[in-house]
Order: sequence, then structure tokens, then C-alpha cells
Amino acid sequence: MGGDGSGTGGIGTHTQTSEQEDVHTNPILDEDVIVIDDGTSEKKRSKKCTSDVWQYFTKKNKVVEVDGNKFVQLWGYCNFPKCKASYRAESHAGTSGFWNHLRSAHSIVKGQTCLKAEKDHEKGITVIQPYKYDPEVSLKKLYLAIIMHEYPFSIVEHEYFVEFIKSLRPNFPIKSRVTARKDIMDIYLNEKEKLYVYLKTVKCRFSATMDMWTSYQNNSYMCVTLHWIDDEWRLQKRIIGFFHIEGRHTGQKLSQSFAEVLVKWYIEKNYFP
Ligand SMILES: [Zn+2]
Repeated sequence: MGGDGSGTGGIGTHTQTSEQEDVHTNPILDEDVIVIDDGTSEKKRSKKCTSDVWQYFTKKNKVVEVDGNKFVQLWGYCNFPKCKASYRAESHAGTSGFWNHLRSAHSIVKGQTCLKAEKDHEKGITVIQPYKYDPEVSLKKLYLAIIMHEYPFSIVEHEYFVEFIKSLRPNFPIKSRVTARKDIMDIYLNEKEKLYVYLKTVKCRFSATMDMWTSYQNNSYMCVTLHWIDDEWRLQKRIIGFFHIEGRHTGQKLSQSFAEVLVKWYIEKNYFP
């Protein structure tokens, strides 16, 4: 992302006077270009733009020339793919034009509480609940899908998958593959920590099974699964170890690796062989 290319044309709060001052002081104006907001001013914008309308429009400065004088105008461009609508976005212009466009072109109504309908299969009824879009909640759900369905981390960069997400929410903050991987590793470590803490509270004894697995690259892995019955008498199982075993798989080596896992999880004393 490039430097501070967002200009000083004012993000919603500048008055007419300060905008005219900018005409003379802003070096970008000499280049006669439309300033493209590259998103680096995200923090600045989210602070100042309080209207919900800015979820759907991106503000960009535009330079216009009138009788040889150059002026900066702030315009808001619709985020919906293939929609070319744009409106003046100086703060005194108000947001009703933006809302009118959202209503007529995209069926989005100002101040409308969204509802979501969900089937409750146990009760056989449909439950209607208020729905609020929260990008962080949605991102967590995306990560959960990657984890549970074993999608590659690179799915977040797959062209048509990104198109799909953008069609639902044009400004959804989808992450890079590197960030997605890091975030998911953090979820893993967090869950692992929670399991550590939980297992310390379990009073019953544990049973564990061990299995060897060979990958396509001919590497051998040991998988250790822990089984127990919780206080509500439900059978529980968790994988507590999945790691590469080097060298020959002698009985001694396998048993040593297995015992190491139990010790790592502090369950060797409660182990029920
Ligand atoms: Zn539009």
C-alpha cells in the first residue's frame, strides 16, 4: 500500500474555506490526477465517518478545473461491484442522495434492522432474530469454515471466492493468506490452552489410542487420541498429539513417543491403559 495518498481534501469534516486553502497548498493538485483512496486512511475515516452509509461508499478526492482554476471535490463511489454511481460527499451535502441510491439500486434501507430467519430443527420452527453485520464475527466464521472443512489457507485469495464474498458485502475485510494462517494458528494455540486447563478439572481417568499414518511423501506420523467420559456421562474424544516420527518405528520408539504426549498433557497419572 502506498503512502499518504489520500490527500487533504477533507474527509467529511472540512469546511468550504479549508478546502479552498487546500487547493493552494496540496502538492497533489499539480499533477492533475484523481486521488484514489487506497485504504491507508482506514483508521482516520472510521473515526470521522459515523453514518452507516459509508459501509457502502468509498470517498475519493476528485480534481475539477473551472476556468483554469483547480478545485478538489470529495466524491463517494458505490462499493457494489459494477455499480458506477457516485455523489458529492462533502459533509454539508448530507447523505440522503446516498441512501436514495442504496434503496433504489440495492434494496438497502436506512436504519432498517436486518432480520435473519433460522430453522430450529429440534423444535421444527423458524426463528426470526435481529441480525447485525459484524465483520469480526463474519471473519471468525470464515476461519471456522477453513478449519472444519480443511480448506487451504489460500482460499481467501481465490479470485472467485473473493468475488463471492464481495458480492455479499463489498467492503468485507478479507485477509491475505499469510494473515489467515497466522490468525488460525492463534485460534489453534488458544483452543489448545483451553483444553489444557479443562483437562486438569476432569476427575475421571483417560483412555488413549495411538495410530500411525503415512503421508503421500512417505513420512510417518503418530496420532494420539484421548477418550474420556465427562461429568454428564458423555463420551468425549480429542486429538492431543499429531506429529512426525523420524527413523525406524521400533516398539520402544513408539512407546516412548506415546508416553511423551501423555506427560506433556499432564495426564500420565490419570491414564487408564
Ligand atoms: Zn450502487
